[in-house]
Amino acid sequence: MPSGDSLRAYAWIEDALQVIHRANWYRSPYAIDSGAGSTLMIEGQPCLNFASNDYLGLSTDDALKQAAIAAIQDLGTGATGSRLLSGQRSLHQQLEEAIAQWKGTEAALVFSSGYLANLSTIAALVGPRDIIFADAYNHSSLKKGAKLSGAAVVEFKHGHPPDLVQKITQYRQDYRRALILSDGVFSMDGDLCPLPELMAIASAHSAMLLIDDAHATGVVGPSGAGTAEAFGLSDQPLIQVGTLSKALASLGGYVAGSLSLIDFLRNRAAGWIYTTALSPADAASALAALNRCRRDPPQRQKLWRNIEILRQGFAALGWQTPDSQPFASQRTRLLPSDSAIHCLELPTPQAALDLSQWLRTQGCFVPAIRPPTVPTSRIRISLMATHSEAQIQQLLSALAIYGTPEAKTEEII
Ligand code: PMP
Repeated sequence: MPSGDSLRAYAWIEDALQVIHRANWYRSPYAIDSGAGSTLMIEGQPCLNFASNDYLGLSTDDALKQAAIAAIQDLGTGATGSRLLSGQRSLHQQLEEAIAQWKGTEAALVFSSGYLANLSTIAALVGPRDIIFADAYNHSSLKKGAKLSGAAVVEFKHGHPPDLVQKITQYRQDYRRALILSDGVFSMDGDLCPLPELMAIASAHSAMLLIDDAHATGVVGPSGAGTAEAFGLSDQPLIQVGTLSKALASLGGYVAGSLSLIDFLRNRAAGWIYTTALSPADAASALAALNRCRRDPPQRQKLWRNIEILRQGFAALGWQTPDSQPFASQRTRLLPSDSAIHCLELPTPQAALDLSQWLRTQGCFVPAIRPPTVPTSRIRISLMATHSEAQIQQLLSALAIYGTPEAKTEEII
């Protein structure tokens, strides 16, 4: 039995958990008893899935499954080493060439996850003599990467180029290198970053620019190549990071950019050098997904048709204008979206939890997202190409009922 003395050093963990509970920030995963898809079994109940990043619905695609199985049969289950030792397979290089071709860059490098790609790339590019300018709503992996790098960090207002100009003008000259960081599609909001403006500011102030395309890859741009393609800026100097785990339905991350950037990262990105290479199954299914994604615009068009159905449904509820107030609450609003992610902001964490819970009773799984993940509480709806119109209408009907207390009571009875 451990003694009281030896346990004392760990007592703060219980206290910290209590604080998290009291703030209504406590999180734990759901027990999901079925595979991916537009419907799920959650804690024994069937539910429409509005919480997936599988935007194109590829995670259940037979060709992708076959590619993963064939790779396991040919190459085994694990890569068995880091890329610089024994882990490299020609499959990794094929995947990197395909990513670079798709993104319109000279080269690309795959990592074990998108999170690791961001951490490692940022920490390799800048250090204590440098400065990072970061959108205030950036994903955790960009924020943690910035911290890990040891560079000075200055946040600018979300999606607000004038604020970035003011800050970069004030601070840039005191530092050696500068790096601007932004999500391409913001993961907990759904809007696109103002890439042309960010690029112009980067160029005017001799700063590098890194865009996290995790939620843009496969979704925005004519071939789904992401934010730069969506703005017609694929040929401009830019560092594009992304994930293989969302629309590409696999696991892993990537960085796409110039040959010298990729060569440098192979020598300096600790989270690439000192970790095991991507497994054959993950690399093969990502490559199959990427090829499908590029060659199958109808699947992306189906996603965008679903986005349009949801938008029209919101408009029919009177929620489409910037000053409309869903559920007649002054502190509830629909956030602007350019993607498959649509958020309804609510006044408190409890209000977000209540709405999410109510939607579960109506057969729709729509998670509540609360601080500290986001600055304000919200429910986050994410759409897939494989949702049917009837499924989206079911969600819209449930949202409409929630706004009318009498109807809600009738529904419960
Ligand atoms: N960036 C963003 C914007 C994300 O949303 C995520 C995943 N939630 C990541 C990076 C990390 O990607 P991965 O899941 O591949 O680690």
